[in-house]
Amino acid sequence: MTIEELKQFAVAMGEKPFRGKQIFIWLNRGVQSFEEMTDLPKALREKLEGCAQIGGCRAIQVQEDETDGTRKILFESQAGETDTFEGVFMKYNYGNSLCVSSQVGCRMGCRFCASGLSGLVRNLTAGEMLGQVLEAERVTGEKVGHIVIMGMGEPFDNYENVAQFLRLLHDEDGRNMSWRNMTVSTCGIIPMIGQFAEDFPQVNLAVSLHRLTDEGRSEIMPINRRYPVDQLLDAAREYTEKTHRRITFEYALIEGENDSDEDVGRIIRKLGGMLCHVNLIPLNKVDETGYDGTSRQRAREIAGSLEAAGIPATVRRQLGSRIDGACGQLRWQAEAGN
Ligand code: SAH
Repeated sequence: MTIEELKQFAVAMGEKPFRGKQIFIWLNRGVQSFEEMTDLPKALREKLEGCAQIGGCRAIQVQEDETDGTRKILFESQAGETDTFEGVFMKYNYGNSLCVSSQVGCRMGCRFCASGLSGLVRNLTAGEMLGQVLEAERVTGEKVGHIVIMGMGEPFDNYENVAQFLRLLHDEDGRNMSWRNMTVSTCGIIPMIGQFAEDFPQVNLAVSLHRLTDEGRSEIMPINRRYPVDQLLDAAREYTEKTHRRITFEYALIEGENDSDEDVGRIIRKLGGMLCHVNLIPLNKVDETGYDGTSRQRAREIAGSLEAAGIPATVRRQLGSRIDGACGQLRWQAEAGN
């Protein structure tokens, strides 16, 4: 709940609104029981125990990649659900970042991605997304200063909950996180891009492109049949005009599929002149998909060609690949049976 909702909740319980604010502050510090909210009267704590629930999540497993400090965390919901989801804690020179899941599973069906292998199970709530951040800090003992919604799921397929999560993060009585430290990544649900520009003009937007012809993109990303790539690029241009913010295009490099000189020429023709940045991600191999990643050397070569054509490009650092924590690899392994 937002601070306003908690104030109303307090009032509905016959309490003063400021009790709602106190509860909000405690929840955003990551307490896991009402008992710990020591500035509330004991009677109120007991009443809360009886009628309310802290709907976040608990870390039930942590895997560390010791070479780079990346940790993949398996969460269990505290909101009465039995399923699990994952987040990835990463260390960058600008600070620590958490890759947050927005859904359990995904219904977008991108052919190269592990998250959608068995479809969508359910949307995560704002509390479960915030819980990932709080729990990641608890189990790592470190601060999370940035979040990227690039874990399991399609955030624009769960827009209301994602929007609430971003607002909670930003609240000055909560984590007071700057909008600019948040990034949302979408596979290209066009109507939501306009909505997002309207609602969150300062939050970073990343769009997964991966291919620039309709035929090729539809083959690996079924969403392209509904929202074709040229229309997506138009929406991206509108976004940058409206927000004056640079948009990030993610381009997963798949060996022999989208990494030829012809593909690079197409990126240059289609993205040239846009306020954008291209993030090249050598595909992380997911066995079931049959696709493999382009070599880092070729990826660097492609980045060089884009840069030479005036398109800012970087090759994404590959954190956590040893623990299957890299992009698109998130999946509850027990469920997948391996
Ligand atoms: N649904 C959102 C966020 C998901 S994941 C989206 O599609 O943008 C973040 C990024 O990882 C996306 O660009 C996604 O296409 C990419 N990705 C998925 N599987 C991958 C894999 N196996 N290797 C590399 N990147 C992958």
